[in-house]
Amino acid sequence: MRFALCLPWRVLTPEAKSVMDRLNRRSAMVDECLVWLGPESGGYGTIYAFGRPRGVHIAAWMAMIGPVPEGLELDHRCEQPLCWNVSHLQAVTHEENSRLVQARRHARWVEWPEVE
Ligand SMILES: [Zn+2]
Repeated sequence: MRFALCLPWRVLTPEAKSVMDRLNRRSAMVDECLVWLGPESGGYGTIYAFGRPRGVHIAAWMAMIGPVPEGLELDHRCEQPLCWNVSHLQAVTHEENSRLVQARRHARWVEWPEVE
């Protein structure tokens, strides 16, 4: 059986159904990520959705949640730019997104000294 991520069919608009159908047909589940296997641009998966080509993560967000809030961008908490699992996405400001990316890049597992 193939895993598909979607809201209940009845709550989706016809356009959202078409987007979700196309996303689910061309993706693979890797761990918890839904990784897009179709065309890419600049490291992000792209799909024609809601009138123009968009990042697959943006298309999934728009289909299941709604418009991306003005002035915000979608951060991949999973750091997989081809992932469109909306539970891995959060809408943040550009500054916050940069800060999160930097923090993830520099975070390391270290041996922590015992507190006496
Ligand atoms: Zn993910």
